[in-house]
Amino acid sequence: MSRQTKPLKVAVMGGTFDPVHYGHLVTAEAVRGEFGINHVLFVPSGRPPHKKLQQVSDAEHRYLMTVFATLTNPYFEVSRVDIDREGKSYTIDTLRALRQQYGDDTELYFITGADAIAEIMSWKSAEELLCLSEFVAATRPGYQLDARLEQWFAEHGKKLHTLQVPAMAISSTDIRNRVKAGKSIRYLVPEAVEHYIHKNRLYLDA
Ligand code: NAP
Repeated sequence: MSRQTKPLKVAVMGGTFDPVHYGHLVTAEAVRGEFGINHVLFVPSGRPPHKKLQQVSDAEHRYLMTVFATLTNPYFEVSRVDIDREGKSYTIDTLRALRQQYGDDTELYFITGADAIAEIMSWKSAEELLCLSEFVAATRPGYQLDARLEQWFAEHGKKLHTLQVPAMAISSTDIRNRVKAGKSIRYLVPEAVEHYIHKNRLYLDA
């Protein structure tokens, strides 16, 4: 009798991570539990397509902070796939590369913030994206998803998964503002990330 093996499930945690914080880590862990994910791949964006380069910290800083933040979780890994690719970091290129790396039998779940996914209809090769991965939108409490977005997924025979994550009350923008204002960021980011930010004098001119 042949034994049926379950497909590998990989969550792709896409974000600028400027900086990575506990909200992102809680989101990744919650998605892992909710969808039976085997491992979570954090993918810091190299050159976010919708942002001016000078608005975003150096990719190597963001990559290293993500590595430090995820070190203690055996299910978490960090990928350089976006950082090492030339040009803008379009999600379609990320997912094509990961689909090739993992093969067709692996189920991919792309996770990011609901505000970002709200724009997915305008992303490069939007319809192909839906063929490559499931999509999970992490929402902050009180966030109302645009009904047109769910309808767009439904029109393509897909479902947009949502997960409310109270810890996403923490935000990277707030952390950058706090650093600039000389306020504490302790307990908002892992200790190693806090030290990294101060040691490298990040966000002082944010
Ligand atoms: P963003 O505009 O900086 O963030 C939008 C919101 O989502 C913010 O509230 C952000 O909170 C939150 N967020 C970001 N990443 C998250 C994550 N992994 N889990 C939970 N919440 C998250 O968006 P971004 O970070 O630059 O982009 C998000 C992803 O979408 C990236 O992978 C990016 O490459 C992709 N994207 C692709 C295209 C395209 O292909 N055309 C266009 C835009 C975005 P924080 O600020 O606290 O993180």
